[in-house]
Amino acid sequence: MLSVGDPDFATPESVIEKASQAMREGDTHYTSISGHEALRECIAEQHQQRSGQVVTAANVITTSGAQNALFACSMCLAEAGDEIIVLQPMYVTYEATVKAPGATLVPVVLDAESGFRLDLDKLKAALSERTRAIFYASPSNPTGISLNFAELQGIAEIARQHDLWVVADEVYSNFVFDDEFHHIASQPGMAERAITIGSMSKSYAMPGWRLGWVIASTEMIDNLEKLALCMLYGLPGFVQQASLHALQHCAEDLRHMRQVYRKRRDFMYQAIADMKGLKPLMPEAGMFLMVNVLGTGMSAPEFVRALFKNTGVSVLDGTAFGASAEGYVRVSYTIADDELADACHRINAFVGNL
Ligand code: PMP
Repeated sequence: MLSVGDPDFATPESVIEKASQAMREGDTHYTSISGHEALRECIAEQHQQRSGQVVTAANVITTSGAQNALFACSMCLAEAGDEIIVLQPMYVTYEATVKAPGATLVPVVLDAESGFRLDLDKLKAALSERTRAIFYASPSNPTGISLNFAELQGIAEIARQHDLWVVADEVYSNFVFDDEFHHIASQPGMAERAITIGSMSKSYAMPGWRLGWVIASTEMIDNLEKLALCMLYGLPGFVQQASLHALQHCAEDLRHMRQVYRKRRDFMYQAIADMKGLKPLMPEAGMFLMVNVLGTGMSAPEFVRALFKNTGVSVLDGTAFGASAEGYVRVSYTIADDELADACHRINAFVGNL
């Protein structure tokens, strides 16, 4: 199964131990709405260290995963009639998330020919009187492309000029392989308008724990806290204790996972590049690889169906993420190395026989 993004790694054992201990010690009651102070302090500290943006626990609220963070931000930022710009291809939940408060989604298409990179002129052309915010995931799911410094500078300039919010979904930022990761929040004048979303799901192989966060201005955090009061009423204390433990003590696990993903990316890229009719796009980060399949003579949906029927290997049609990914499939490398090699073997045999 190369169609899902659930890490194959187990949650680090010491994190599970910490959660069990916290439960046994009685951390099974209501907690503070915005999250444990120590956890928020740690998230703020690590963000400041990485981005240079000066923040404290008052700039952080915990949420039930990054998905809940995205939804909560959308609800707090927009209302009917507002427009929200989203860079496309976009993660599948963005459409409903952005439309939930009644806002209109305005896609800015990143062209496949440019390697799914941002064209700032297209972003400018998408602006209107009603534009309220720009949402994006960098590194991106599905493309694995990370916005570079010049692209972020451009987005920041537009946001400042037009008084916009920028919601930066950075759930894959710990899995950038080659270049440095850049944060929009540390661009000049962005502290009050940048909203950074993070999560334990990918970085620490903890998607089932549902622990994410928002880092933003204290005004935004105050509003999110009001929403969280009636939406969540706090997250499990033992999950928060386990997450704090992971952030403080599992840097080695994270490094190991990054190395493994990188190795798999290199392996998959090369293996697919050598296959008849397939053209992979080198991902800069994350756990996904986009592959142009048009050289096989099939459309992406045809390829997905035929590949699965003939080989049992599942990949995802790129148009799930927007029309600009037409002709592409998304392949995830979130399975063990030997299974991945087996999958490549089967895909190769399949395209070879076409
Ligand atoms: N944003 C992106 C870009 C994602 O790929 C995902 C998960 N696939 C999420 C957000 C949601 O992550 P979480 O498990 O933290 O809710």
